[in-house]
Amino acid sequence: MQFWDQNNECMHRDEIEQVQLERLQATLNRVQKNVRYFKKIFREIDFMAEDLSSLDDLKKLPFTTRKDLRDNYPYDMFAVPLREIVRLHAPARSIDKPVVMGFTVNDLNNWGQLMARCLSAVGVSKEDIVQVSLVPGKMIGPFGVQLGTELIGSSVIPMSVGKDLNQLKIMRDFRTTSLVTTPSFALGLVHTMDSMGIDPIDFSLKHGILGSEPWSESSRKKIESELNISATDIYGLAEVFGPGVAWECPEKNGLHIAEDHFIPEIIDPVTLETLPPGTMGELVITTLTKEAFPLIRFRTGDITSINYEPCACGRTCSRISRIFKRCDDIIVIKGNIVIPDQIGKILDRFDSDKPSYQIVVEQENDKDIITVLVEISDKIFFDEIKKSQRFLEEVQGDIFEYLGWEPKIKLVEPGTFDSTEIVIDKRNFDD
Ligand code: ZN
Repeated sequence: MQFWDQNNECMHRDEIEQVQLERLQATLNRVQKNVRYFKKIFREIDFMAEDLSSLDDLKKLPFTTRKDLRDNYPYDMFAVPLREIVRLHAPARSIDKPVVMGFTVNDLNNWGQLMARCLSAVGVSKEDIVQVSLVPGKMIGPFGVQLGTELIGSSVIPMSVGKDLNQLKIMRDFRTTSLVTTPSFALGLVHTMDSMGIDPIDFSLKHGILGSEPWSESSRKKIESELNISATDIYGLAEVFGPGVAWECPEKNGLHIAEDHFIPEIIDPVTLETLPPGTMGELVITTLTKEAFPLIRFRTGDITSINYEPCACGRTCSRISRIFKRCDDIIVIKGNIVIPDQIGKILDRFDSDKPSYQIVVEQENDKDIITVLVEISDKIFFDEIKKSQRFLEEVQGDIFEYLGWEPKIKLVEPGTFDSTEIVIDKRNFDD
């Protein structure tokens, strides 16, 4: 079994907790001193960073939500002055204020180390050629993968998505051994290979490191058998570095969390009570090493469970179960985060009476299709086909412009859907 950092990946539980406690104390001291938002929160609950004497004391602190991050746009969550920031990311596009993440030199070093751990855990070494089919800018992932591969010493081919035939040609000619992408893009490549009669025997591919969206075990089996590779899951979120928070080892039995960098908790998303290991709930993350953008008890919205049993691979850090559900109405599709409320805000621009809409997500031939149903009203009623066509194009154009993805839009009669249900996600990842 390969370890990039055996000292930190295989600590005893009491050693992990000691490292976490020391780093948590340092993080709380820094945020209390330097982050206006946390200074105010700690004052409100009469908490001093030095009051923390055990990991259990973390529960005295309130949760941080995405709304808190947006409300502090652009820099009020930063714990260092801007002159120490060497990179800024605002990957999720929004009609409102986006969340802005900052990185110091040390943050980038730590992120690279985490990505090196995750890639090497599945066998990526300096002998490998890693093709990264993720959209830079729109997604934060490619930058982290690049840091990790360069630390390992493997050759990286930064690509984007789309142009399947070109991707397959490069994969074959450059003798790509590892593909880092979304599961849906990997499935798209499988379909293109099928339809063009391309045989994976011509490829050198061994590893698929896939993430940024939910996927099922049956999709994994299909990708593995059709591409003749081992496919593993990787988890992260833009607010907390990006990918590299947790990853599967070759046991494929849960994703190891880098507990020397993060404290995971599982809570009931309704009562906010902490849940015991093995129980499904919302993942909450506290960062321990982030300098520029530390987060305390950040509610991820992702539903999972946590397992502290040792893994057969030898790693001792806990594992979360694969994530395919959320406890809020956010949809993750093709690596994009879709916030339904944002569609409402775009439609309001055309009809101030707030037209009813419903977002339907389906899978067709392993492809995620997203359709926005818009109810016709006095203002959105067109007896001329030309007019309604123009309306549909304008809404679609605005969604692409502001949110970065393209749905189908359909005008429907009032009463066609239950307007209290904004999202209908028909995809099934639980198999
Ligand atoms: Zn393992």
